[in-house]
Amino acid sequence: MAVVGVDFGTLHSKIGVARHRGIDIITNEVSNRATPSLVAFGPKQRAIGESAKTQEISNFKNTIGSLKRLAGRSLNDPDIQKVEKKFINASLVDIQGSVGVEVNFLGERQKFSAVQLNAMYLGKLRDIAASELKTGVTDLVIAVPGWFTDVQRRAILDAASVAGLNVLRLISDTTAAALGYGITKSDLPEPESPRHVCFVDVGHSSMSVAIVAFSKGQLVVKSAAYDRHLGGRDIDFALVRHFSEEFKGKYKIDVLSNPKATFRLAAGCEKLKKVLSANAEGPINVESIMNDIDASSKLSRDELEGLIADELSRITAPIQQAIADSGLTIDEIDAVELIGGSTRIPAIRNRIQTCFPNKTLSTTLNQDEAVARGATFTCAMLSPVFRVRDFHMNDISHYPIKVQWQPTPTDPEEDTELLVFNPGNPIPSTKVLSFSRKEPFEIEAVYAEPSKLPGSINPWISKFTAKEVLLDASGEPAIVKVKTRLNAHGVMSFESAYIETWEEREEPAPMDVEGQEPQPPKKKRFARKTEIRFVTGNSSLDKSVVESLKEQENAMTANDKLVIDTEDRKNALEEYVYDTRGKLDDRYAAFVQAEEKSKLLAALQEAEDWLYTEEGEDATKSAYVSRLDALKLLGDPIAFRYREHEDRQRSIAQLRETL
Ligand code: ATP
Ligand code: MG
Repeated sequence: MAVVGVDFGTLHSKIGVARHRGIDIITNEVSNRATPSLVAFGPKQRAIGESAKTQEISNFKNTIGSLKRLAGRSLNDPDIQKVEKKFINASLVDIQGSVGVEVNFLGERQKFSAVQLNAMYLGKLRDIAASELKTGVTDLVIAVPGWFTDVQRRAILDAASVAGLNVLRLISDTTAAALGYGITKSDLPEPESPRHVCFVDVGHSSMSVAIVAFSKGQLVVKSAAYDRHLGGRDIDFALVRHFSEEFKGKYKIDVLSNPKATFRLAAGCEKLKKVLSANAEGPINVESIMNDIDASSKLSRDELEGLIADELSRITAPIQQAIADSGLTIDEIDAVELIGGSTRIPAIRNRIQTCFPNKTLSTTLNQDEAVARGATFTCAMLSPVFRVRDFHMNDISHYPIKVQWQPTPTDPEEDTELLVFNPGNPIPSTKVLSFSRKEPFEIEAVYAEPSKLPGSINPWISKFTAKEVLLDASGEPAIVKVKTRLNAHGVMSFESAYIETWEEREEPAPMDVEGQEPQPPKKKRFARKTEIRFVTGNSSLDKSVVESLKEQENAMTANDKLVIDTEDRKNALEEYVYDTRGKLDDRYAAFVQAEEKSKLLAALQEAEDWLYTEEGEDATKSAYVSRLDALKLLGDPIAFRYREHEDRQRSIAQLRETL
């Protein structure tokens, strides 16, 4: 069974696998350790990951990034309209209440929901892992931002199901990094005096901070805080605004009015930004940005820091929040670990440093891969096939969750809501609620502070409907217990409902012991649980919908594969034509008869001519295969004679050497 962990990033994702030697971050089909988080649609097939990146500029209206930022959102969410729209060039549409895209695919306008887009991408990561491990991949752990809500988490879980994946755990990015930190340290203190580490992750779109207490064999997340809109892409965008102003005067062009030009400029700005992390000054060159103009300029690190002053000023707030919520003083924090690509920016480091005046910021973790490694460790711990050092991970929830209900006629004074999971509640966690009821009833779970949720995410989480309440002969209200659970994914659900009744029963009398008075039988109270029928609803997709999306996804994957295989067979045919023609005049020359040669040459010519016809340009896989097979029927005997001769020569040479 494969053990796989994924850091699902906004810009790119990393995949870890567990092997008996340890955990490796694997490379994709072009040997990169990070795979662009992009899905693209073309006239014949989809392109996902690296291949989507390659065609991004020429097909940018049908190429979609920011995939995880779309999960669980509606089209009119201000985070989508005001933020993600800046970074996505495809047209965003509503698909049954969820955001999606409309793209040109297979010659038609087609719509895909955020769940489908995420499923396509996760399917690509699955294939990369499967081809590395040479086995099927189903179970995995995915790292997501700790600020993801129930609906966002369920959307990622649904996407994984559509891709045929089983998520063993959705883990927070920073908790994953913390696990990777803890599990590899052999010098952790006793639980009485834990080591406190502050993890600061500044990525491409968001920033996360977590304060974690480590001791032998365990970690406890003390607090976490976030800025959901602070990352490398915001810095890139600040540069885009600056240069587009400059180019208005310099080249008389309005870059921001032209999406393709904006895209080109943004790519140049990201490059420049990276240069400025290591140099005091750097150039920017964007060839044919628009109107055939090659734009160029330069920027100093000081100027950059001026342009991103607003972003920089927001770095300290989440750190201070996390420190305050942890209940620790700054002196009690033993180390600060930086992760995420944007912590390479010196000005960002400086801001983080101001929160910890007497500490050296450390990067003992690989800042790009710590999250993926931690996710993979988590998967290994949850998988039966791996033996990993036991390490307890005590994570916490981020948003308060309450349940609410209508007042009952019998008890109009009764409260109508109850806070069930406070922020900082351990996950996973189970709580049993008691309701005194005579009749069927409903309760709803909602986030208690909607204003703290991202964008305009609906605070509604789940609904519970008791279909029956069984009363005893007395007709008194029954005490109905409802079990709620915040599971390891950070997803909340109603688990079970039962009526608890207490019965007094006599314990069997103890055996008579000689010389002692016989004991009277003892009475003891026993709880009897009677399950009651209930239904629940939540924001996960219905099983039937998942199944039908899965079928569509499988059909698209099969089509992509067929297109790639067809292309591959076409190339093979083309290559055979050129290769064989060359060899006939060269190494095969001594092994071919004139008639045979002219017959083969004619067949090669015919195949080549056909390849340039409209039919041959775009034929089926089997058409290419059968043409190649026909050529090989003529060519193979010649190749065989040549190889036999070569083998013989080699044997003779070897024999000579040994003599
Ligand atoms: P997120 O965690 O926000 O979803 P992510 O995990 O994809 O995003 P990371 O891989 O942590 O993001 O970081 C990517 C960001 O880091 C990009 O904006 C990239 O430009 C930036 N980055 C990478 N290297 C450097 C560097 N040397 N200097 C400045 N920025 C850098
Ligand atoms: Mg990240």
